[in-house]
Amino acid sequence: MGQFDKDKQAIVKCARWLSERGYFGCVRGSGGNISVKLNTQNMMAITPSRRPYQQMSMDDVCVVDDNLKSIEGHLTPSIEATLHLSVYRNRPDVNAVIHTHPVFASILSIINKPIPALFDEITFEIGSAVEMIPYALSGSAELAQNVISKLGNDCYCYLLQNHGALSIGKDLDQALKNAELMEKVAQIYYYALTTGRKITTLPNGAIDQIYQMSES
Ligand SMILES: [Zn+2]
Repeated sequence: MGQFDKDKQAIVKCARWLSERGYFGCVRGSGGNISVKLNTQNMMAITPSRRPYQQMSMDDVCVVDDNLKSIEGHLTPSIEATLHLSVYRNRPDVNAVIHTHPVFASILSIINKPIPALFDEITFEIGSAVEMIPYALSGSAELAQNVISKLGNDCYCYLLQNHGALSIGKDLDQALKNAELMEKVAQIYYYALTTGRKITTLPNGAIDQIYQMSES
């Protein structure tokens, strides 16, 4: 067994779970991408470009160093590899990154609606807001820069304008849970907006208390 096989297997399992539930937009497609920071020598394992998730095997997952030099793998790493590296460089607390195209986060991304703190249970996990990262072309250095500009809020979920969703975590399980929580709250927020009624958000005092609880 190779030294990165466990991480590669975890990525394929996570990708299938998300794909089967429509998180990548099209079950037969290859949109979105997943990576895990590897403990050794600043490397990451990341899904390859243009490989449908239903056909993806552990050997298709790429391992690259922090200059995107290939260490293992026979396919080209995801077009968003620079974005993933940018997250690891700027958020030392993060060891996994998941980028998806789910329906409700995508709706909010085209009507420019960041998600405020709405439920204490979700704020406890993903932070006080899901901010909107300004649009730039997929795979561009500008998009990676735009992501970096928002990471300082120490939250774990972001919307990518006219594109989709980005969730991060201390490990892959947490990033996956955050991806699910973000889509859940995006769905609720979207339906609430369609009622035209006033939407109440969590009071600032509650958010402070939640942060204190999550740090203890
Ligand atoms: Zn994308």
